[in-house]
Amino acid sequence: MPMFEAQETWRNFPKVELHVHIDCSLSYRAVRDLSPGTRLADWRNTFIGPTRCEDLVEFLVCVDPAIALMQTKQAVALAVDDMVDQLAADNVRYAELRFAPLLHTREGLAPELVVETALEAMHKAAERDGITCRMILCTLRHYTEAETLLTADLALRYADQGVVAMDLAADENSHPLDAHIAGYAKLRAEGLDVIAHAGEAKGADSVHETLEKLGVSRIGHGVRSIEDPAVVDMLGERGVHLEVCPTSNIQTAVFADFADHSVQALRDAGLSIGINTDGRTVTNTTLSAEYLALERTFGWGREAFRDANLAALAASFAPAEVKDALAREIRTAYSA
Ligand SMILES: [Zn+2]
Repeated sequence: MPMFEAQETWRNFPKVELHVHIDCSLSYRAVRDLSPGTRLADWRNTFIGPTRCEDLVEFLVCVDPAIALMQTKQAVALAVDDMVDQLAADNVRYAELRFAPLLHTREGLAPELVVETALEAMHKAAERDGITCRMILCTLRHYTEAETLLTADLALRYADQGVVAMDLAADENSHPLDAHIAGYAKLRAEGLDVIAHAGEAKGADSVHETLEKLGVSRIGHGVRSIEDPAVVDMLGERGVHLEVCPTSNIQTAVFADFADHSVQALRDAGLSIGINTDGRTVTNTTLSAEYLALERTFGWGREAFRDANLAALAASFAPAEVKDALAREIRTAYSA
């Protein structure tokens, strides 16, 4: 058998990434800066997750070492700066970075300072690297109503400084939505965008429940929606965008491999889908690598990736002028 030959070098194409966690993306360089003496092998063993975890819970444990490091102003700023550099190297032109600010207060940082530090680092790095970035603040499934309301208040407070939405992350299986409904309702009433992870560790009913109870415009993953045609219809009718992260779903044992992944069926169903990494270090991937795997598995070419990038851009919380300019850039690049 001849080796598969890629038709395109996907790194060169302009891309949009809406679903990437800062704490899942610490590069070796960043870890070595924060923790001098760390060897490459140590970083690999500690920060990159197994190719195949038992489930989402095992995957989430792999994020702990990065969280433990990111407890100072300097560390938060460096992690964000490093993330933007990695996006630029992957030719991501517009990105929404996400993290949970309350995870970074263990050593006494005030939540406001965590967000301000991340925003300042993001804006500085984005300008230096010539890309556009916005920030999403995550609340977590196991958080109390008070913690979600606090995260919602942070999102509102910094909405004019680059925060564009609140997300709900972490273990979908063990924690219901109840504690988060008030925070989401508050943000919707204030006109701030809300999104959530769903349909990853749990099935299509979880996507349905999240749409009904949280009123989100985008779902992180949502890949198990395919299990219920009624949920697929609902996503289509409401124009809900799915932030699909293929390798991450294989890593957390949602699918056996790329060929088994629902992304092709979701595209065939006409849903709005985009392609994302979820985390560049824990999942050990880039968008260019995800594109190559999709090309290899499903024969996706310029048309499919143009559609995915335009769908992500339309569902993004970018300013209108950024959307217009980048849509033109994407159309040109993928049709050339
Ligand atoms: Zn995620």
